[in-house]
Amino acid sequence: MTDTIFAPATAPGRSAVAVVRLSGPATGRAVAALAGRLPRPRLATLRTLRGQDGAAIDQALILWFTGPKSYTGEDCAELHLHGGPAVVAGVLEALSALGLRLADPGEFTRRAFENGKLDLAQAEGVADLIEAETEAQRRQALDQLGGALGHAQSRWRDALIEALAMFEAAVDFADEEVPADVAARARPVLTDLIADIEHALVHVKRGEQVREGFRIALIGAPNAGKSTILNALAGREAAIVTATPGTTRDIIEVPMRFSGYKALLADTAGLRETHDEIEAEGVRRARAWAGEADLRIWVVDGASDAAATAPELHPHDLCVINKADLPPGAETGHAVVEARAFGVEALRLSAKSPGDIAALEHALETRVVAALAGAELPTATRLRHRELLAEALERLQRALVLEDDLELAAEDVRLAGRALDRITGRIDPEDVLDRVFSSFCIGK
Ligand code: GDP
Repeated sequence: MTDTIFAPATAPGRSAVAVVRLSGPATGRAVAALAGRLPRPRLATLRTLRGQDGAAIDQALILWFTGPKSYTGEDCAELHLHGGPAVVAGVLEALSALGLRLADPGEFTRRAFENGKLDLAQAEGVADLIEAETEAQRRQALDQLGGALGHAQSRWRDALIEALAMFEAAVDFADEEVPADVAARARPVLTDLIADIEHALVHVKRGEQVREGFRIALIGAPNAGKSTILNALAGREAAIVTATPGTTRDIIEVPMRFSGYKALLADTAGLRETHDEIEAEGVRRARAWAGEADLRIWVVDGASDAAATAPELHPHDLCVINKADLPPGAETGHAVVEARAFGVEALRLSAKSPGDIAALEHALETRVVAALAGAELPTATRLRHRELLAEALERLQRALVLEDDLELAAEDVRLAGRALDRITGRIDPEDVLDRVFSSFCIGK
């Protein structure tokens, strides 16, 4: 039998209202002990809450939900208290004295999942909604909470069962008059399914970028002005600016926002040959971060005569020829040629000019919006989904080429189904569930 848990559902600190949540079979008894008697279910009721010694702790609004019509599916209650730390502490202490247990992180949502109130992808949507800082993150999380991924999964599952049934019929009745083409009929079902999953995989990247932030890396030789540009874009002194080359040795990430999308702008160690061990590690990390970034800004010192070699660039990246306020050096013309070789746009500007920084910001915004603003919301939004979809896809593709060996093909289709089932967590091992729910805050 499950025990009864409680936890503050609102952030600690002073606030007008703080909510304490309870769930489990002893909820009704506990609320009655605190409030004298149980209010009518689902009806906000004002009561004085008292500890075991009979002394008043607070006047609170009580909401009492009888299972299964509640968030967790169990008997649940919400106590809306005055949001002072002493009030909340007093109520938590009283609940503990009644033998109830403080909930683990994510335990309320885990119970909701275990009672079939939501699937694992929806539970992830709850966590994402709480984490959402931008409008795009909120929309995406809400869509996932609404069950978008679960709906896609059950559509895929239906197709999969249809294909599997045909394979199995062909195997079971191999010697009888089952139409010889029954296995062949599974082919279009599988090809459609493969196309559908491939489509979801294309969009999952965008989902991850919206959730985690679009990664923009500033790269280039030391002293080109990367830190100055980062600070100007961020509107604060996030990175140290000095005239001494090699000052930025680790990666400095600054969260930014472009048209409702979250981005992470990173200043990286200047790319140069070095004998300093710490700086060399910084350069290695800089290259790695830049290689995985969604966008690179290659910054060069346009006033210098050194001809810097361009790092690996992609066509949507940017080249910034900095220090346009100074007389141009040989680097200016050189960088234009290098950028053109990658098909990358080159902007000549001065990091010290607010107008130029605004133009750079606009160029970045255009790129972030172009990458993230699709007509449809991605259904899959995180690495866990991407891995499972990729696994299912691989199995299905194998099933297609194994058509001559129907038993093997059927087994692959079955394993693809298992990977898809794990998206909604119906058959996931405990450790995966533990990992998903432990990322929640207490009280969720
Ligand atoms: P980083 O090593 O690439 O991060 O370069 P920093 O941002 O630390 O800049 C190196 C030096 O160049 C500093 O002294 C900056 O003040 C200077 N600097 C940066 N941008 C400009 C610019 O647009 N014009 C001028 N004149 N100096 C700049």
